Amino acid sequence: MLHRTEGIVLNSLPYGEADAIVSFFTSDYGVVRVFAKGPRKTKSRFGSALEPLTHSRMAFWGREHTTLPRLTQADIIYPHQKLREEFGCFLRVSEIVEMTLGLLPEMAPHRELFDIMLKALRLIETDRLAYRGYLFYKVKLLSLSGFLPRLSGCARCGRSGSSFYFQDGSIVCRSCLDGNEVGNSRVELSLGAISVYEKIRLWRWEMLGRLVPSQRLVQELERMLNLHIRFTIDKDIKTNSFIIAHQRR
Ligand SMILES: [Zn+2]
Repeated sequence: MLHRTEGIVLNSLPYGEADAIVSFFTSDYGVVRVFAKGPRKTKSRFGSALEPLTHSRMAFWGREHTTLPRLTQADIIYPHQKLREEFGCFLRVSEIVEMTLGLLPEMAPHRELFDIMLKALRLIETDRLAYRGYLFYKVKLLSLSGFLPRLSGCARCGRSGSSFYFQDGSIVCRSCLDGNEVGNSRVELSLGAISVYEKIRLWRWEMLGRLVPSQRLVQELERMLNLHIRFTIDKDIKTNSFIIAHQRR
């Protein structure tokens, strides 16, 4: 069956002498990994459409649960070339790409998030206040993948607090912690950082222009989000390998 959609190239791994396995974030199927025949040949029909971050109209062929469908078409809509050329930009965007691959299962549609990624990439390319794009995308990625941190109050009693515990994915107040949990890994957050986060969590993209937090608050939030995402992906990997190990028995 032929699937037509739009996609953003997340990464591309060489396979054999001239082939590649390419991960796309697509508007209709979420994250999709496809086999691309010959993109590394000089006269490849894909041209430069498989460069990382390229937004293209694409098609792939495969039965419903084929492990690796085959890419049949990729025509560039917008190359995002500037993002690849500026090293600092590319590093930051690579981080978003890695998080997306780590948190979203394959073939699970997330059209809203796809649209946000496109807008975020465009903002990062053009706006000196690009941090808003990174922050917004990360928060929405966590929200739509079901891993959104809870900062509005303690996970157990609802009272406000400032210690975010990674194990709980939430703020937990001191009186709700039992003795064994006091040493669990956590990060302390300022009221300012919590307030910026709550705005991003509730706002739509169109309201983002009103967000002008200090650099200190941005760094504080980013650090917490990055650690939380890292913790979530590691936990997920451990859970999956645990399940696989048990299935093999
Ligand atoms: Zn509590």
